[in-house]
Amino acid sequence: MDRCLFCDIISGASEASFVYKGKYCSAFLDLFPINPGHTIVIPNQHFTLFESMPEEVVSEMFIAAQKIYKAIISSDIPCDAGNIFISNGKIAGQEVEHCHLHVVPRYPGDKKLMKFISKEEIIKSYRVQLDKIAKQIKKFL
Ligand SMILES: [Zn+2]
Repeated sequence: MDRCLFCDIISGASEASFVYKGKYCSAFLDLFPINPGHTIVIPNQHFTLFESMPEEVVSEMFIAAQKIYKAIISSDIPCDAGNIFISNGKIAGQEVEHCHLHVVPRYPGDKKLMKFISKEEIIKSYRVQLDKIAKQIKKFL
Protein backbone atom coordinates (compact mmCIF):
# COMPACT_ATOMS: atom_id res chain seq x y z
CA MET A 1 0.00 0.00 0.00
CA ASP A 2 1.15 3.53 -0.76
CA ARG A 3 1.50 5.92 2.13
CA CYS A 4 -1.93 6.87 3.47
CA LEU A 5 -2.51 10.45 4.65
CA PHE A 6 -5.16 9.42 7.16
CA CYS A 7 -3.01 6.59 8.60
CA ASP A 8 -0.26 9.20 9.01
CA ILE A 9 -2.70 11.42 10.90
CA ILE A 10 -3.71 8.52 13.18
CA SER A 11 -0.05 7.63 13.88
CA GLY A 12 0.84 11.27 14.51
CA ALA A 13 3.20 11.47 11.51
CA SER A 14 0.95 14.19 10.07
CA GLU A 15 -0.83 16.82 12.09
CA ALA A 16 -4.56 17.31 12.42
CA SER A 17 -7.02 19.15 14.65
CA PHE A 18 -8.65 16.22 16.44
CA VAL A 19 -12.08 16.51 17.99
CA TYR A 20 -12.50 12.85 18.94
CA LYS A 21 -10.30 9.82 19.62
CA GLY A 22 -12.13 6.57 20.30
CA LYS A 23 -11.44 2.84 20.39
CA TYR A 24 -12.19 2.24 16.70
CA CYS A 25 -12.35 5.68 15.14
CA SER A 26 -11.11 9.22 15.37
CA ALA A 27 -12.29 12.55 14.02
CA PHE A 28 -10.53 15.74 13.00
CA LEU A 29 -11.30 18.89 11.07
CA ASP A 30 -11.07 18.78 7.28
CA LEU A 31 -8.13 20.78 5.96
CA PHE A 32 -10.27 21.95 3.03
CA PRO A 33 -13.62 22.52 4.76
CA ILE A 34 -16.85 22.96 2.85
CA ASN A 35 -17.92 25.12 5.82
CA PRO A 36 -16.25 25.85 9.18
CA GLY A 37 -16.52 22.82 11.47
CA HIS A 38 -16.43 20.31 8.57
CA THR A 39 -15.22 17.18 10.36
CA ILE A 40 -13.85 13.90 9.03
CA VAL A 41 -14.56 10.70 10.99
CA ILE A 42 -12.24 7.81 10.12
CA PRO A 43 -11.52 4.28 11.31
CA ASN A 44 -8.27 4.09 13.33
CA GLN A 45 -7.29 1.06 11.28
CA HIS A 46 -6.91 1.39 7.51
CA PHE A 47 -9.99 0.40 5.49
CA THR A 48 -10.38 1.72 1.98
CA LEU A 49 -14.07 1.05 1.53
CA PHE A 50 -17.20 1.29 3.68
CA GLU A 51 -18.24 -2.30 3.00
CA SER A 52 -14.94 -3.71 4.29
CA MET A 53 -15.26 -2.25 7.79
CA PRO A 54 -16.44 -4.42 10.71
CA GLU A 55 -19.81 -3.44 12.23
CA GLU A 56 -18.29 -2.23 15.51
CA VAL A 57 -16.17 0.26 13.57
CA VAL A 58 -19.13 1.47 11.48
CA SER A 59 -21.21 1.82 14.66
CA GLU A 60 -18.65 3.92 16.47
CA MET A 61 -18.13 6.09 13.39
CA PHE A 62 -21.81 6.97 13.11
CA ILE A 63 -22.27 7.40 16.86
CA ALA A 64 -19.21 9.67 16.92
CA ALA A 65 -20.56 11.60 13.91
CA GLN A 66 -23.86 12.20 15.71
CA LYS A 67 -22.08 13.35 18.90
CA ILE A 68 -19.84 15.66 16.88
CA TYR A 69 -22.81 17.06 14.95
CA LYS A 70 -24.68 17.74 18.22
CA ALA A 71 -21.54 19.39 19.60
CA ILE A 72 -21.30 21.62 16.52
CA ILE A 73 -24.95 22.63 16.96
CA SER A 74 -24.23 23.51 20.60
CA SER A 75 -21.15 25.50 19.65
CA ASP A 76 -20.91 28.96 18.07
CA ILE A 77 -20.16 27.39 14.66
CA PRO A 78 -22.93 28.33 12.21
CA CYS A 79 -25.02 25.16 11.87
CA ASP A 80 -28.72 25.16 11.06
CA ALA A 81 -28.54 21.87 9.16
CA GLY A 82 -25.93 19.38 8.05
CA ASN A 83 -24.73 16.95 5.43
CA ILE A 84 -23.42 13.66 6.84
CA PHE A 85 -22.00 11.44 4.09
CA ILE A 86 -19.40 9.01 2.79
CA SER A 87 -18.01 9.16 -0.74
CA ASN A 88 -17.29 5.46 -1.18
CA GLY A 89 -14.90 4.63 -4.03
CA LYS A 90 -13.15 6.73 -6.65
CA ILE A 91 -16.15 6.99 -8.97
CA ALA A 92 -18.20 8.33 -6.05
CA GLY A 93 -15.62 11.05 -5.44
CA GLN A 94 -13.51 9.41 -2.69
CA GLU A 95 -10.24 11.34 -2.71
CA VAL A 96 -8.37 9.69 0.17
CA GLU A 97 -8.35 5.90 0.01
CA HIS A 98 -9.09 5.53 3.73
CA CYS A 99 -12.81 5.36 4.36
CA HIS A 100 -14.12 8.58 5.90
CA LEU A 101 -17.40 10.05 6.98
CA HIS A 102 -18.00 13.76 6.44
CA VAL A 103 -19.93 15.87 8.94
CA VAL A 104 -20.61 19.20 7.27
CA PRO A 105 -22.44 22.00 9.08
CA ARG A 106 -24.81 24.01 6.87
CA TYR A 107 -26.41 27.39 7.37
CA PRO A 108 -28.73 29.63 5.35
CA GLY A 109 -26.93 31.47 2.58
CA ASP A 110 -23.77 29.34 2.68
CA LYS A 111 -24.11 28.96 -1.10
CA LYS A 112 -22.85 25.36 -1.05
CA LEU A 113 -24.48 22.82 -3.34
CA MET A 114 -24.93 19.11 -2.74
CA LYS A 115 -25.76 17.98 -6.23
CA PHE A 116 -25.70 14.59 -7.90
CA ILE A 117 -27.78 15.18 -11.04
CA SER A 118 -29.41 18.16 -12.71
CA LYS A 119 -33.11 18.81 -12.29
CA GLU A 120 -33.69 17.87 -15.93
CA GLU A 121 -32.13 14.46 -15.32
CA ILE A 122 -34.42 13.56 -12.43
CA ILE A 123 -36.81 10.80 -13.43
CA LYS A 124 -39.53 9.83 -10.99
CA SER A 125 -39.35 6.16 -10.09
CA TYR A 126 -42.42 4.01 -10.17
CA ARG A 127 -43.44 2.19 -6.99
CA VAL A 128 -42.98 -1.19 -8.66
CA GLN A 129 -39.36 -0.29 -9.51
CA LEU A 130 -38.71 1.03 -5.99
CA ASP A 131 -40.20 -2.08 -4.40
CA LYS A 132 -38.07 -4.29 -6.64
CA ILE A 133 -34.87 -2.45 -5.66
CA ALA A 134 -35.89 -2.43 -1.97
CA LYS A 135 -36.41 -6.19 -2.15
CA GLN A 136 -32.92 -6.65 -3.63
CA ILE A 137 -31.33 -4.63 -0.83
CA LYS A 138 -33.40 -6.29 1.95
CA LYS A 139 -32.24 -9.68 0.75
CA PHE A 140 -28.76 -8.85 2.03
CA LEU A 141 -29.66 -7.12 5.32
ZN1 LIG B 1 -5.10 4.70 5.87
